[in-house]
Amino acid sequence: MAPAVFKTDVAEQLGQAGSIPVRLRQRLRIDPEGNRRLVGVRQWIEMWPVVRQATGPDRTGRGDAAKSGRSQQLRPRTSEADRVVQSICPYCAVGCGQRIFVKDEKIIQIEGDPDSPISLGKLCPKGAASKQLVTRPDRVTKVRYRRPGGTEWEDLDLDRAMHMIADRVLDTRRRTWQETDAEGRLLRRTMGIAHLGGATLDNEENYLIKKLYTALGAIQVENQARL
Ligand code: SF4
Repeated sequence: MAPAVFKTDVAEQLGQAGSIPVRLRQRLRIDPEGNRRLVGVRQWIEMWPVVRQATGPDRTGRGDAAKSGRSQQLRPRTSEADRVVQSICPYCAVGCGQRIFVKDEKIIQIEGDPDSPISLGKLCPKGAASKQLVTRPDRVTKVRYRRPGGTEWEDLDLDRAMHMIADRVLDTRRRTWQETDAEGRLLRRTMGIAHLGGATLDNEENYLIKKLYTALGAIQVENQARL
């Protein structure tokens, strides 16, 4: 479709339509829909950010004066969220605050929380990309098991996996239990079980893990986020 041509303001004001070269009277611009359109000289000049800054209320040029036709149409990707949930970045011990934007019960964006006294709305690149942690299509959502000596991973039913883990924990604890040391001092521990947590564990999960392993007598409990 041929581009729309606007009547030239300059030519109209001077009453000399046709006496001003076309290249001066008409200027190309890109409208918000991405179409190339021709506008009059006056409109073209008034579109310049510096002119809008000098003549309009936005004297610092950090608001409306700096917007193009296209950027005026843009909306924040969070504006369509149904609700916002405050959370903590799961990746490291800094504990930056996050705002999780939810639409139709799905996470649509995760951003820094300005109310967080820790991070004041900022996230490092890793924290800023944490939406992928829950939304990536290749996220592993099944129990994966590789048999002793096996070369392939196989999917396991969760119930079966939990029973296998319980059997191994009980057996290891029984075999490696230390009631006392060589001098008779009370130990009541097992050195046959250790736990290494990941930074994606949240506070509540870490609390339960520490409680469970302490109850089991396992004292080697660490987290990758602190190593
Ligand atoms: S990974 Fe980055 S965003 Fe997350 S808590 Fe650590 S420093 Fe903050």
